[in-house]
Amino acid sequence: MILFDSVTKQYPGDSAPALDSVSLHIEPNEFVFLVGKSGAGKSTLMKMITKEESPDSGKIIIGGIDLDYVKKRHIPGYRRRLGVVFQDFKLLPRRTVYENVAFALEIAGMSGKEIRKTVPKVLELVDLLDQAKKFPDQLSGGQQQRVSIARSVARQPKILIADEPTANLDKLTTKEIIDLLKKINDFGTTILVTTHNENIVNNLQKRVITLKDGKIVNDQKNNGIYELEETPIPKAPKRVMQKPGHALKPRRRVIQ
Ligand code: ADP
Repeated sequence: MILFDSVTKQYPGDSAPALDSVSLHIEPNEFVFLVGKSGAGKSTLMKMITKEESPDSGKIIIGGIDLDYVKKRHIPGYRRRLGVVFQDFKLLPRRTVYENVAFALEIAGMSGKEIRKTVPKVLELVDLLDQAKKFPDQLSGGQQQRVSIARSVARQPKILIADEPTANLDKLTTKEIIDLLKKINDFGTTILVTTHNENIVNNLQKRVITLKDGKIVNDQKNNGIYELEETPIPKAPKRVMQKPGHALKPRRRVIQ
């Protein structure tokens, strides 16, 4: 569960807040797209979840943890409970695909035996078992992103956040990555993805939250479409203009 209650954040020197009293509630196992123009506050919201930034005011609770109580020295441990996927993959260049995933598990304190059991399973999930011995620069962009996803789901996080995971990928590869995230969501992981890709948002028909100038201006809970502005207020029905001379007779008042 992801809960923001009136979260406000203004960076020093900025004239307006990056997040302005944002409240949202994402239930376990939801798949949510976060959209908005550049500068709307999407990355800041993601950084609040990873505790790279802290709010000036408001409350954030992630997976039952009140982030106010996560002390600096506990931040790395807290982050390991989340799956985080980046637009530029952030793989270790001198380690193989297998080692990239294994290393993440090693840091999390998993035993060698468990690691040897887990890594092939997650590589199979992302369909890269046959590429295990390759180094990142021997892979395509889509494959590298799949390694990065494998690494972040290996510890079976309850929540996975991805900031523009398909920004550097072509159309076909983008679809592969989104299908993979959907598969992970089907296994029970809550997923929050920021994107500028209108097609993937419209095709998936999931919840879509729109940020604008640091505020949530739209939250389409079901079958959401890519929407950068607030939902327009429905216009009042047009009045029928009456031509002069054709005025309707005044209605008799009905007294009930
Ligand atoms: P988005 O991810 O939607 O493009 P950001 O969260 O990156 O939006 O930015 C929201 C606002 O906060 C913008 O006005 C941006 O200039 C400002 N901002 C983001 N990061 C910083 C920072 N480190 N220092 C100062 N201002 C920042």
